[in-house]
Amino acid sequence: MSAPRLGSGKLVIATHNAGKLKEIQALLAPYGMECLSAGALGLPEPDETGTTFIENALLKAHAAAKAAQLPALADDSGLCVDALGGAPGVYTADWAEADVFEGGPGRDWYMAMGKVEGKIAQQGPETPRNCHFSCVLAIAWPDGAQAVYEGRAHGSLTWPPRGTLGFGYDPVFVPVGDTRTFAELDPAEKHAISHRADAFAKLVADQFS
Ligand code: IMP
Repeated sequence: MSAPRLGSGKLVIATHNAGKLKEIQALLAPYGMECLSAGALGLPEPDETGTTFIENALLKAHAAAKAAQLPALADDSGLCVDALGGAPGVYTADWAEADVFEGGPGRDWYMAMGKVEGKIAQQGPETPRNCHFSCVLAIAWPDGAQAVYEGRAHGSLTWPPRGTLGFGYDPVFVPVGDTRTFAELDPAEKHAISHRADAFAKLVADQFS
């Protein structure tokens, strides 16, 4: 059975992150979608209780679709390190949670990158450093229908971190075929090869071709 299709019209973007909303709006604008944010609609943010990217993206998409009675798109993403059995995976953001960071609770990405590096180092100098970023996009409809698209960017981890662009774990991620980290790539170059671009290409091919 083929996935249900969006057609054109209203789509709730199930994120409270203004940066993500802007990026997704720009990607979907050419297809006649009117994107509304879950934040602007006052929808609650469900707890991400899933153990996979797919589960988390689906639970956010279904919660928004049900509450707004409109189709909804949600994403979930993270870094998976082969030598760590896929960790930090769905806990990628949690590994950066710091009690005290610049005077208050927040996310310390340098600490998070150090945690990953420390766990690899514990396994010895020959430990494979390959990893991938994963991005899952889930669309849910108010009647319970759903569609899921997964994109990946494969690469390896470097240490120490390099580059000032991007966000999160970008300074330690070297994509396959390059020697620069994601944080050393021009944003347009990163967006052309990222896990998010890969997932969106699959969504567009399935939904709008
Ligand atoms: P979420 O999808 O907003 O839950 O994000 C999960 C975490 O994965 C983010 O907070 C980032 O640390 C990490 N992450 C996801 N995509 C990227 C990326 O493109 N570069 C660096 N880190 C990323």
